[in-house]
Amino acid sequence: MIYDTIIIGGGLSGLVAGVKLASAKKRVAIITSGQSALHFLSGSIGLLSAVDGEPVSDPIASLEKLPENHPYNKIGAGRISSMAGEAADILKAAGIVVDGNAGETRYRLTPLGAWEPTWLVMDGIASCPHPSKCPWRKATVVNFHGYLDFFPEYVADGLREAGIEAECHEVKLPELVRLRKSCSEMRAASIAKILRGEVLRKLAIELNALGGDSEVLLLPAVIGLKSMQETEELQAMVKKTIRYVPVIPMSVAGVRAQSMLRNYFEKLGGTYFLGDSVSRGNFSDGRLESVHTANLGETVLEADDFILATGSFFSQGLVAKPDAIVEPVFGLDVDQTAERTERYDKNFFAPQRYMRFGVETDKEFRVSRGGKTVANLRAIGSILSGADPLKEGSGAGIALLSAVCVARKLITLN
Ligand SMILES: Cc1cc2nc3c(=O)[nH]c(=O)nc-3n(C[C@H](O)[C@H](O)[C@H](O)COP(=O)(O)OP(=O)(O)OC[C@H]3O[C@@H](n4cnc5c(N)ncnc54)[C@H](O)[C@@H]3O)c2cc1C
Repeated sequence: MIYDTIIIGGGLSGLVAGVKLASAKKRVAIITSGQSALHFLSGSIGLLSAVDGEPVSDPIASLEKLPENHPYNKIGAGRISSMAGEAADILKAAGIVVDGNAGETRYRLTPLGAWEPTWLVMDGIASCPHPSKCPWRKATVVNFHGYLDFFPEYVADGLREAGIEAECHEVKLPELVRLRKSCSEMRAASIAKILRGEVLRKLAIELNALGGDSEVLLLPAVIGLKSMQETEELQAMVKKTIRYVPVIPMSVAGVRAQSMLRNYFEKLGGTYFLGDSVSRGNFSDGRLESVHTANLGETVLEADDFILATGSFFSQGLVAKPDAIVEPVFGLDVDQTAERTERYDKNFFAPQRYMRFGVETDKEFRVSRGGKTVANLRAIGSILSGADPLKEGSGAGIALLSAVCVARKLITLN
């Protein structure tokens, strides 16, 4: 089968590029090994929350302080704002409701009760324009009996420090108690599978019975694995406003986002090869002609263009060997310091040089191999070099914007 574009990797960047290309009626396939960083997402998407350790309140105005080879500089500072809007619209079209805009930092509540600066907050996750403008004076933090991946007292303490009155309550639902028979089963995703229908109605009754004068109920983000249907139903049944606080992964909001993007991609006509890995490629005249996958053996998949979206170390898009960091599928050129001792700082909390490693790309996000540009293979997302997503709070933003940027280029090109 010959495609217009084959995308390798079905995380946030691969899926968003796939949706954009499929929306433009391109024949697109995504080949992806498995889980992605989305399964660990907090429910918020960062664009840029700090540069050189200094917090930023206006991400767009702070772009000029980023290093020249930063992915945002390849996109072009002047285009970030419109692409951020387009990326948010793609998420919304897939059914993922998000709140926030690129010119203004938003703050979401962390599992430890702190306010973390971010860009987009997924629907229902507790957030506000600024901690000093928090809409609630009093909050009730609710946990489920026996659930250990959520720490209501930490959340309540954090709120109190910010001047918000907070109290904690526990709800006991017999349907969840059986998960405790094996403590490894009382996890976010397993709870989400049970909190629907009649059990959800029982939860609503318990929540309405809590009483008190708090304005908001803060629940662990463990409801709505496939869509927002359950969270909407629960809110309709409960008198007080409900907001959700992220928990220890699996992230229900992230799994939901991944599933909604995949469904939307397939609805648009895209082909999704789940559970397969691209193992190598066939190159000719500075172009990638086709790829082999683990499942298809000697059968190749051909395309006019390819997008590499295999992620960073976390998803094995990059692999650390004793003498070098490598890109394992095609052996692409990787931007890195040569000496192992120079890759990291022994101070765990210092900026780590290896975080900026990634595949080298030109201004069009085309990769190189043996020093030569590959004309039809572009990289997007966290495999790109030049950013420190952890210190900058830019990981998901880079994934989204580089995906939109590269997809736009391919739509205009062909
Ligand atoms: C644990 C974690 C938590 C994060 N939490 C947040 C957050 O809360 N907020 C935020 O703003 N940012 C967060 N980030 C950053 C941001 O979400 C990620 O940088 C972004 O989602 C990365 O998307 P990606 O598509 O580039 O890569 P990934 O999500 O890593 O996806 C890469 C995909 O490629 C597949 N793959 C790899 N090799 C192959 C192959 N050979 N063949 C086929 N498929 C392959 C993998 O299986 C995976 O599905 C987090 C990052 C991590 C690692």
